Amino acid sequence: MILVSACLCGQHCRYDGQAKPDASLMARLNRDDVLPVCPEQLGGLPTPRPACRLVGGTGADVLAGRASVVDRFGVDRTHAFVRGARRTLALATTHGVRYCCMKAKSPSCGSAALSSMAAGLWPKGYRPVLGVTAALLMNHGIEIEEIP
Ligand code: SF4
Repeated sequence: MILVSACLCGQHCRYDGQAKPDASLMARLNRDDVLPVCPEQLGGLPTPRPACRLVGGTGADVLAGRASVVDRFGVDRTHAFVRGARRTLALATTHGVRYCCMKAKSPSCGSAALSSMAAGLWPKGYRPVLGVTAALLMNHGIEIEEIP
């Protein structure tokens, strides 16, 4: 099974209630092998919901208790993000997932590697994000392809 950010599969699970379907991604994956998951919904957050951002570090720092996730009203959503990450990992483990395709720039799904971040490999103005769920999956040896 390949775990895929549910919004890329066409599910309307984004913070603004929209989807982000990626037809070329879906065309190259075998539909029967796709496991669509939205970590923020799994964490118990509603859709639509206020946009959230990482504060004080990356998703890896959130998992280590050194950073947090807050919504645009300043409400701390760290607990829901960590819960969503753990539930996503549980699903991945149950289904034997070793490879994921996850949406870039998301505080949950963004998977920008720390080494690449440090090397400044992104175009000017693009702020790479290592999300909470992506960090947890990577910690467990699951490979992630970041989808723009
Ligand atoms: S948490 Fe991931 S799957 Fe859910 S809407 Fe955001 S990018 Fe898409």
